[in-house]
Parts: sequence; structure tokens; C-alpha cells
Amino acid sequence: MPHAVRCDICGKLLSSSTLKSHKRLAHAKTVVVVASEEDAIPKIVRIYETLSTEKKKEVLATLANMDFDPA
Ligand SMILES: [Zn+2]
Repeated sequence: MPHAVRCDICGKLLSSSTLKSHKRLAHAKTVVVVASEEDAIPKIVRIYETLSTEKKKEVLATLANMDFDPA
């Protein structure tokens, strides 16, 4: 039976069955390898979805302040 456990990294309450994948996705130390820009978007979204509301806001604020070269 899965039980509720707290992630020791972010303190989020999770099911014991999802803790492993949560840690892998939300706290991955390695750079995510993407084959193409098209491949990158779903991966970014998947990682984003694992974040807490507070961290999601942080990501959006970071992206909003990010400079990019107009094509
Ligand atoms: Zn966590």
C-alpha cells in the first residue's frame, strides 16, 4: 500500500509510489538531454508540472525576465 511521505528536498507531500519519480523529475541533478526543440517542450512541461505552486511562479517570473534575440 502506498503511503504519504514527505520529500526531503522540497517538503512536498507525496505518495510513496511517486516519490522516486518526483525526485528524479523535480530534483534531477543532471541536465535533461533533448533531441530537438520539439522534444524539449514536453520535457520542460513535464518537469514544470512536478513543481510546487511557489516554484511555478518562480519559473514564470524567471522566463518573463529572460532576454531573447528576436528572430
Ligand atoms: Zn521534492
